[in-house]
Amino acid sequence: MKTEIISIGTELLLGEITDTNSAYIASQLPLLGLDLNFMSTVGDNQQRLIETLRQAWQRSDIIITTGGLGPTQDDITRESIAEFVGEEITIDHTLVQKFEELFRYYKIEMPPSNIKQAAVIPSAEIIQNPRGTAPGWWVERDNKIIITMPGPPREMQLMWTKEILPRLQQKIASAAIVSKTLKTFGLTEAEVDERANPFLSTKNPSLATYAKFDGIYLRITAKASTEVKAQELIAQRENDLRAILNDYIWGVDSDTVERIVGALLTERGLSLATMESYTGGFLANVITNAHESSKYFKGGLVAYADDSRISFGLSKQLISRYGIVSSQAAEAMATIAREKLGASMGISLTGVMGPEEIEGQPIGTIFIGLDDGQHKRSFSKNYPGNRLQVKQRAVTSALFELRKFLL
Ligand code: AMP
Ligand code: MG
Repeated sequence: MKTEIISIGTELLLGEITDTNSAYIASQLPLLGLDLNFMSTVGDNQQRLIETLRQAWQRSDIIITTGGLGPTQDDITRESIAEFVGEEITIDHTLVQKFEELFRYYKIEMPPSNIKQAAVIPSAEIIQNPRGTAPGWWVERDNKIIITMPGPPREMQLMWTKEILPRLQQKIASAAIVSKTLKTFGLTEAEVDERANPFLSTKNPSLATYAKFDGIYLRITAKASTEVKAQELIAQRENDLRAILNDYIWGVDSDTVERIVGALLTERGLSLATMESYTGGFLANVITNAHESSKYFKGGLVAYADDSRISFGLSKQLISRYGIVSSQAAEAMATIAREKLGASMGISLTGVMGPEEIEGQPIGTIFIGLDDGQHKRSFSKNYPGNRLQVKQRAVTSALFELRKFLL
């Protein structure tokens, strides 16, 4: 079924609020097998919203809107839908009573404008909002559906998962749709596309590639009469893809590189310590995102200034001879982390985050050091981008090098 999303609110058009609702809903639709054809944003303007609804009605089966359900004058989504379908708005008095009870509970007087949120039209079913007073609407007419949800993301997302998703699943219950994501690192999106090319044009299972900060993802989606059959289709395609990309696939679905590395360390009975300079502790921070990190992560040293590095034990001679952005410094830092914190492995990061070059090295240069007590290794990379991007890429890259080292 052809689906489209309309986000409503002048603040979105002014760029004050980023439209995360559309992205959230868009990410949910493939699982339902719904094709998203359009996303539009319209301000709080009744005439333009009706125009947008009319266009959507012509080309789509399901129209999902968010925003414009507040009690204030500027929120006009209900009024616009009512006018568009040509139905009269009435007030649902049981809803008004519920609002009054809610306000009494919080010991505040209900503003009269809130009554507006109890508006209904004959073809609308009221959708509960467990996190706010603005209910949604499910409008069905002429084989088309308009779904209207409130703008605040936490209200919208709960309404989506608790109310909308089950209703939509029931509507399209004839098929089971399953997705699986394979995560790769080390190839560009073009290279992944080229290798996966024979499978990119098939319809079932379908395949899509996405570039993310931790590599290129391949999402396989299959549709079948039962979930088991859909899983079989996925498994076959996964085998095909593993045959051509296996060296690059590091995880699936919700795997993160820090969790994968953590599992490898645990499996081998190893512990880890970090020493960082320009990433300011970001590497240690990401490592501790894994739930079980306390089992293998000893801790991290962050040395930002030269004298801090020296006080942690990095030799003055090494710094003056090779510089701090060097493979020698990276390896020495990994050793310091390992020895000072009593870990079996040390990993380090040094580099140039900007705004200026350091030691004649361009912004984005990073060195990763590794030491397991027997071997020392270092790797150098260059990642363009702003400070935060360089930091994130440096950390991701360090974790992937550690993974390779462990394997
Ligand atoms: P509403 O009263 O339903 O128009 O929405 C109220 C608030 O929800 C707005 O002030 C925004 O902060 C937020 N909001 C509305 N639309 C979106 C959207 N598309 N994405 C993210 N936040 C939104
Ligand atoms: Mg609004």
